[in-house]
Amino acid sequence: MKLSAKDIHAYERMKGGLITANGFLGTDARGLAEIIQKDSEAMEELGLTFEQAASALETLKDAGSKGLGEPTELPNGIVVQTGDARGVLPCPWDDGVFHKNSVVAENPANGGRLVYSDLSIHLLREHHFCQGRGSEFRLDPAEMAKFMPLR
Ligand SMILES: [Zn+2]
Repeated sequence: MKLSAKDIHAYERMKGGLITANGFLGTDARGLAEIIQKDSEAMEELGLTFEQAASALETLKDAGSKGLGEPTELPNGIVVQTGDARGVLPCPWDDGVFHKNSVVAENPANGGRLVYSDLSIHLLREHHFCQGRGSEFRLDPAEMAKFMPLR
């Protein structure tokens, strides 16, 4: 994958202290093209599409939001807790702003755990970007697979 000027601008904005205190790259020393390439390969190997994963995360968020901040066990056994903070965050690619929220989803059946926000869902769906290794909000493909197919 070759980076466009927009991608390079986005990558600069992902560093800590710009959009968020910790940034989007965690401890990952790899470049943006390599992160996206490797995660795309992992998704394919796991039989997941970015759209399917983003939709599943949205479904979990919506179901969990009924718990009003308390951990909520869904009929499929997955436990979701959603929290809200004031304000919005821009996408590093400058194509939208997203409500500052956080969702924690856990699957007790296999130990799966995901932490994400509306911006994470957007990054996954529109930019195929799972965030860097070590980032608090990274949506690791193998971890997402522990929730799929979502029932
Ligand atoms: Zn975007």
